[in-house]
Amino acid sequence: MNVHDSQQMAQILSDAGYVKTDEAGRADIIIVNTCSVRGKAAQKAYSQLGRLRKLKKKKPGLVIGVAGCLAQEHGTEFFKRAPYLDLVLGTHNIHRFPEMIEEINNTKSRVVDTSFHESVRSLGIRTLPPDGDVSAYVTIMQGCNNFCSYCIVPYVRGREESRTSGDIIDEIRFLADNGISEVTLLGQNVNSYGSTLSGDADFPALLRMVSKINGINRIRFTTSHPKDLSGGLADCFADLDNLCEHIHLPVQAGSNHVLKRMKRGYTAEEYLKKIDMLKSRCPDISITSDIIVGFPGEKDSDFQKTIDLMKEVRFDNTFSFKYSDRRGTASEKYDGKIEEEVKRARLCELQALQESHSLEKNRSLEEVVKDVLIEGVSKNNDADITGRTRDNKIVNIAGDIGLTGKTVKARITRAYTHSLRGEMI
Ligand code: SAH
Ligand code: SF4
Repeated sequence: MNVHDSQQMAQILSDAGYVKTDEAGRADIIIVNTCSVRGKAAQKAYSQLGRLRKLKKKKPGLVIGVAGCLAQEHGTEFFKRAPYLDLVLGTHNIHRFPEMIEEINNTKSRVVDTSFHESVRSLGIRTLPPDGDVSAYVTIMQGCNNFCSYCIVPYVRGREESRTSGDIIDEIRFLADNGISEVTLLGQNVNSYGSTLSGDADFPALLRMVSKINGINRIRFTTSHPKDLSGGLADCFADLDNLCEHIHLPVQAGSNHVLKRMKRGYTAEEYLKKIDMLKSRCPDISITSDIIVGFPGEKDSDFQKTIDLMKEVRFDNTFSFKYSDRRGTASEKYDGKIEEEVKRARLCELQALQESHSLEKNRSLEEVVKDVLIEGVSKNNDADITGRTRDNKIVNIAGDIGLTGKTVKARITRAYTHSLRGEMI
């Protein structure tokens, strides 16, 4: 989501006449786009800002700004922690970017805007991904009304707001006309898409509309909340040829006691039923998840239930995190905080189990022929190109960079934990 926000900010600046540079030393404006969802992400943003301080010393006219969730959370506090900052841009005010920069240049004073609006103006800003990319993000909604007890998102992104289906479809048509063949629909909880609109489409209806757009060969979406996953959505996987066979369905924990304290709105049994429903409509669906370890009050026996659930579902992949207190959330005040050492040990155990499951899943794909959408040159070997299968697995293949953006057929020759090796056929 932040990648897409950064693309939107770059678009606004380029519309205002600014030109992109890859060299920080040549820039007149540098914006650090931040995430505050977990403690680690916030720390990374602060160290990035620390590095920019030296640049500002060398070039006093340089405008340094901070945007995103951390900017929203800390507001003017940022000026105390980083006095060399010029701009703090809240999550609802991206559209005001150029006028705020003008104000800084004219008044030589610092500027901040973290006000919330009923409607987020930047939601409809159209961006094309970097040259050559055939895959684009499309924000279909913003904010969140769920208030899971550990989560800062509703506080820094505001209340849920859906864009109209007409707007979304127009944007995807524009992307398709510009050579985009894969779209990822973005929202904190896409399954509740439309709840703030009256008489418009719900999420399954939106997917059906998107699937009819000429030129869109692959549709993905993230993130799905298990409590709102409907039979209608599961049917889409059976019915829509261009909907990729992958769902990211964060479970967070396997213990009902923990899930209740997290305010997730489902039990482990209900989650497992939804997985069965998805598999009944789409037997080869790839399922990924997010898991938090060391939530306040999580006992060894609770953690064991997360491990049991993982063994039952056998996720293709999981993103797992140590719980971190976020300011202003309900769980910040919960008792039963877990020691760092215990969190670390649980995370280690969980990740080792996930690696074995990921490898097992990937091995089952050996000798299978897959459609791979080529994304560019491989990170590990210049002679290889890399791409993704419909079920979101990375495949490295010996091939020509000129195939970027094309879909090729590849036989999987070797499985690794985080990627596959393939051979073009
Ligand atoms: N809207 C998405 C998640 C957005 S945040 C959803 O509901 O699934 C991405 C992930 O960060 C979450 O799924 C959760 O696993 C993790 N996360 C959020 N707050 C956290 C916290 N306080 N400590 C640790 N992990 C957290
Ligand atoms: Fe956070 Fe829960 Fe909303 Fe996801 S659904 S963004 S975890 S409050």
